[in-house]
Amino acid sequence: MTAPAASARRLVFLGPPGAGKGTQAAIVAAELGVPHLSTGDMLRAAVREGTELGKAADAHMRAGGLVPDALVLEILGERLRKPDAATGFVLDGFPRNLAQAKELARRSPLDAVLWFELPRPVLVERLTGRRVCPTCGTVYNVTSRPPRVEGRCDREGAALDQRPDDRPDAVGVRLRVYAEQTAPLLEHYRSAGLLRPLDAAGSPGDVTERLRRLLAAPPARRASQGL
Ligand code: AMP
Repeated sequence: MTAPAASARRLVFLGPPGAGKGTQAAIVAAELGVPHLSTGDMLRAAVREGTELGKAADAHMRAGGLVPDALVLEILGERLRKPDAATGFVLDGFPRNLAQAKELARRSPLDAVLWFELPRPVLVERLTGRRVCPTCGTVYNVTSRPPRVEGRCDREGAALDQRPDDRPDAVGVRLRVYAEQTAPLLEHYRSAGLLRPLDAAGSPGDVTERLRRLLAAPPARRASQGL
């Protein structure tokens, strides 16, 4: 088991919803000793706390659409300015469109963009089947990781929740938004020499192992990041 190379510390995890970016970002960030910055988590926390920003973001999130750039940049910008993000981070769920990518380039250089690839039917099953314990946060899947008692957390016994944006109609919107707004970033980062495609199929452990190998490999080409 090789740890990721110390040089690749400013990372973006890019890919469709349901590809496992969040799970892997938490692992890789801990291994590198850098913060895991998930704009989805930040926005969900703002919604829970009932802040003005959270109230403005809520309806967009429930429908599966993108939260306006200004709000996302406000919440992420604040986080990126904290000292622990000065030398590295794993960005998960950001950028999601070209305007956000340009904003990010203005604020920080990047070492690599990991592109999580997974076929659409697998994404749909992962997203619509996901259930979360409201008490301890354990994530289940009705098909691939069911709880022992249907609808109940193994640890807490609490009734499991489904994220509003994991309902089938919102999942359809999220995948369409990804194809239309986020997927064009692949070409953008490919031409900047930053893109590293990752096969995101299989168990989380297998994907982590592939990720470690990718991060340990030298970059294919150091190009200008003129984004
Ligand atoms: P995620 O947990 O990354 O799937 O994000 C959940 C939801 O939060 C998305 O469907 C969007 O509504 C919103 N969101 C998260 N990150 C962004 C972003 N970078 N730009 C716009 N909306 C975002």
